[in-house]
Amino acid sequence: MGGVFVGGSINMDVVARADRHPKIGETVAGKQVLYFPGGKGANQAVAAARLGVGTTLVGRVGKDAFGAELAAFLANQGIDLGYLQQTSEAHTGTAIITVAEADNTIVVIPGANALLGPEDVGVVPLVKGDVAVSQFEIPLPTISAFFRRACIAKATTLLNPAPAQTFDRGLLELVDILVLNETELGLLTATALCDATEVAGIVEAARRIQVGAEQIICVTLGRRGIVALAGREVLIVQGRIVKAIDTTGAGDCFVGSLAAQLADAVSLRDALVFANAAASISVQRMGAGPSMPTAEEVAAVLA
Ligand code: ADP
Repeated sequence: MGGVFVGGSINMDVVARADRHPKIGETVAGKQVLYFPGGKGANQAVAAARLGVGTTLVGRVGKDAFGAELAAFLANQGIDLGYLQQTSEAHTGTAIITVAEADNTIVVIPGANALLGPEDVGVVPLVKGDVAVSQFEIPLPTISAFFRRACIAKATTLLNPAPAQTFDRGLLELVDILVLNETELGLLTATALCDATEVAGIVEAARRIQVGAEQIICVTLGRRGIVALAGREVLIVQGRIVKAIDTTGAGDCFVGSLAAQLADAVSLRDALVFANAAASISVQRMGAGPSMPTAEEVAAVLA
């Protein structure tokens, strides 16, 4: 059984709740301030660790109060932080979120995440059977260095190209499994996929970006589930019908759960079914990190 190694972002999400958004230059009184551990890397690591698979998070936080609090939270989740650096050159990544009138505005300051460099990921002890996971909230050259190391070690690489951003083919060639949503697929194929609800349209778009005969392109379709192109084979997993109350972090839950299953040497089809069920549980709970299910909870849903 392998482990999951996430090279990714760690943020503190600071949420201010108010009755209405301030206009430019205006101050309004808020009702509440909430602090949530976030960042795609951290969320995905929490999802994998909750399932009981050995999980290491490679990242950077600042030498500040948020950094210390996030490290304590992540350690509490059972995540190995042996490759977490604390830097005095930047503050901890922070998202400032204002929620009012059922809408939100978000300002993300990457801070220490932007300083995660190839030297940080170059020392990670990956071996065959491990799964190396990354996303686009850390510098792209760092992701490439991480995946090159994984390829040499014959570990599996899983890229979640989110937030949506284009990237060069050199990085894509290092990827065994690409997990992306419809927006990200649309950006990479320069196609508006909003209407491509048919599987054929998604598969056709996935084929256009697939590199090599073996690469797996896994498209998450929200409540509609998953369509994956594995080499030439198409795998479809229907979304589970649930009452969603907060879809924040659904994609992160899916990615972390899929990585955990693959590190556990589960077949791709079974891993997709499991991760789809895990993500369907997460949308029934508030928040990102705190909404990630345990292996027992997912097993109960699949029984
Ligand atoms: P992202 O959060 O990256 O936009 P998606 O919205 O595609 O990702 O969601 C990821 C996965 O979470 C879906 O493929 C599905 O398994 C699950 N999921 C998301 N929304 C729902 C929902 N409303 N009901 C059931 N499952 C959901």
